[in-house]
Amino acid sequence: MIPIDPPVMTVKDTLTASCKRLRNSVLRIRLLAREKDLSTAEQTYIDAAEHNDLYRLAITSREAEELLPDRDGEHLKELYNAGLVGRKDGRIKYDELKARAPYGRCLLCGNGEIGSLDHHLPKDMLPLYAICPVNLVPACSKCNQMKGDRIGATASQRTLHPYYDRPGQTGRYLFADITSWPVQFRIQALPEWDAELRARVEYHFHTFKLAERYAEFCISEVTGNQWLHQKIRRESGVPGLIAHLQEDAEQRASTHGLNAWDTALRYGLADSAWYLHRGVLESP
Ligand SMILES: [Zn+2]
Repeated sequence: MIPIDPPVMTVKDTLTASCKRLRNSVLRIRLLAREKDLSTAEQTYIDAAEHNDLYRLAITSREAEELLPDRDGEHLKELYNAGLVGRKDGRIKYDELKARAPYGRCLLCGNGEIGSLDHHLPKDMLPLYAICPVNLVPACSKCNQMKGDRIGATASQRTLHPYYDRPGQTGRYLFADITSWPVQFRIQALPEWDAELRARVEYHFHTFKLAERYAEFCISEVTGNQWLHQKIRRESGVPGLIAHLQEDAEQRASTHGLNAWDTALRYGLADSAWYLHRGVLESP
């Protein structure tokens, strides 16, 4: 997961843009009249997310929706598809939200090319958040598909929210163990994590099949660097290669984050006696 700040764009912005050029003027006026409701829902979402209370909000909102469906629920879902994704003014906002992902990488896996915006809380169950920017996360099509329309069976069975969850604030939790190919990725909980966060980080890791996918991403990354690693090892020996790998890891940590998969790979290579002596000469 790549953590970034929540967007400053508001639901008022996305509502105004996606209603523009809506030909059905009765519907346009009707939807624009929901601005206050949507803004209130947005503020409730932000308050809940900032206090790690989004799960409770999701459950109570879903119960309320089941009991008394929002009268504009279908229109709001359609407004996302036709207005925010499909119409020119909405699309500008949609693309702005997508463009916030650093290096154009999916915030959920940290590698895939951004395909769309993922509704952190599914729009089909909770139409009030269908066009709410803080609920829209740039993601690759694979992660979007793997996540599906789920809220989570329990508070612990939820994927991480890149705008609000900060598991790696104090250190490394993603590690790459390299004793042969392929690279083995694992999570190592930080001491300050409570049981829920520990479960959620693991849940996120398994839901998006990150161990398998990261190992696959490593193949081209290692192949692309091996020529240089072999050269450094020939010219400066193993100590020279260790120094290079450590510096490379620190540099990647400073640009891509301490818990990005490619940072973990670099630290893993620097720490691997097998790579330094043998793996550097073997294709992954
Ligand atoms: Zn992804």
